[in-house]
Amino acid sequence: MTSSPEHSSPLTTLSQDETLFQQEVERFARSAIGPKVLEMDEKEQLDLGLLPQMFDMGLMGIEVPTEYGGAGGSFFMSILAVEALAKTDPAISVICDVQNTLVNNIFLRYANLEQQKTFLPRLTTKDVGSYCLTESGSGSDAFAMKARAHDEGDHWRLDGKKIFITNAKEANIFVVFANINPELGYKGITAFVLERGMPGLRVGKKEVKLGIRASSTCEVICDNVRVPKQNVIGEIGKGYKIAIETLNEGRIGIAGQMLGLAQGAFEGALKYARQREQFGKPIKEFQGVQFSIARAATDIEAARLLVYNAARLKDAKQDFVKEAAMAKIFASATAETVASEMLEVYGGYGFIKEFPAEKFFRDAKIGKLYEGTTNMQLATIFKLIDAQYR
Ligand SMILES: Cc1cc2nc3c(=O)[nH]c(=O)nc-3n(C[C@H](O)[C@H](O)[C@H](O)COP(=O)(O)OP(=O)(O)OC[C@H]3O[C@@H](n4cnc5c(N)ncnc54)[C@H](O)[C@@H]3O)c2cc1C
Repeated sequence: MTSSPEHSSPLTTLSQDETLFQQEVERFARSAIGPKVLEMDEKEQLDLGLLPQMFDMGLMGIEVPTEYGGAGGSFFMSILAVEALAKTDPAISVICDVQNTLVNNIFLRYANLEQQKTFLPRLTTKDVGSYCLTESGSGSDAFAMKARAHDEGDHWRLDGKKIFITNAKEANIFVVFANINPELGYKGITAFVLERGMPGLRVGKKEVKLGIRASSTCEVICDNVRVPKQNVIGEIGKGYKIAIETLNEGRIGIAGQMLGLAQGAFEGALKYARQREQFGKPIKEFQGVQFSIARAATDIEAARLLVYNAARLKDAKQDFVKEAAMAKIFASATAETVASEMLEVYGGYGFIKEFPAEKFFRDAKIGKLYEGTTNMQLATIFKLIDAQYR
């Protein structure tokens, strides 16, 4: 059993290995990341010293088999790590999330053996990866992308500009989606692996953000990049399938990030409510404060059930797409509500940067936006329900 009392439901009970793993990640987050959260947020800069530690702990290759330097764990364990990191810092959590649930996932599922042997040992031990899909004109409608891959006989030539790319500043490996022939529509979309240093590939403007500010979000620009033919991942024209399928899984990671964020905000507020005194007693003695904390605990428990269920369905190779979308919607809404309510438990101090509440409040907003907005999740859920109840 985990130490937190709210983990009491059997459906959220973890195995001994999972418990130990989660506790280890939480300890690492508290001791190594915790003291740096405020400074990283203010400077909008990841402390680069954290990356080698995350690689050493196996957090950047959780599901990757040990023969490639990975930890040989489950998808569920990736979600537990993302959750555990987000309790301390949702910005660091998304670095781990993108690496595991999107980039490594692509190499595990779609890359050929040669590509796996080349890239997975790097992704598990030292190289951060980026997932480059979004463009200025194509967000929710991702397949309307303008990035082009031209067949030049012995190589591909890539042109285009991706925006809002997580981890781009630190990344050495970039999975870039481009269309080989716009006349084919989405059936022209193809996934390529690019490496930092390829002539014509550069990381552009870094965005200034409301939240998760230690995580870099940048443009990735391809200007006549010569890409070897062997750098196509999966089949030519099947990049759309790779994008859809990885994002279906990735959004469970974002749900896990939002769950951890809510848990972190909740635990901070509970501790504060025990210490802070007004009217001669701790504020936790007031029913108004008690109800606020009790409501947060209830929402978090419901979010945890949805998130763990979606992740376990995925590991069990059962249908999980509807459940993943539901988990992301609910966990991101929970993160927003809980972060806001818990901030109020601190009174005016909740508004002050010295306390973690205001950062959780800012960080929470991203959950409803990336890896498919809430509207796009609702569209997915409706489509699947419509088919299910025919
Ligand atoms: C911090 C951050 C990190 C990111 N990281 C990455 C990354 O690593 N890689 C990557 O490729 N992308 C990344 N993104 C991009 C992100 O996934 C997109 O921003 C997101 O998918 C939404 O696209 P958009 O911003 O173009 O919004 P739009 O698609 O323009 O949506 C605007 C509004 O219209 C609504 N809308 C659009 N279409 C519909 C519809 N059919 N029905 C109902 N409502 C609709 C949306 O819900 C939204 O409210 C990141 C974004 C941010 C902010």
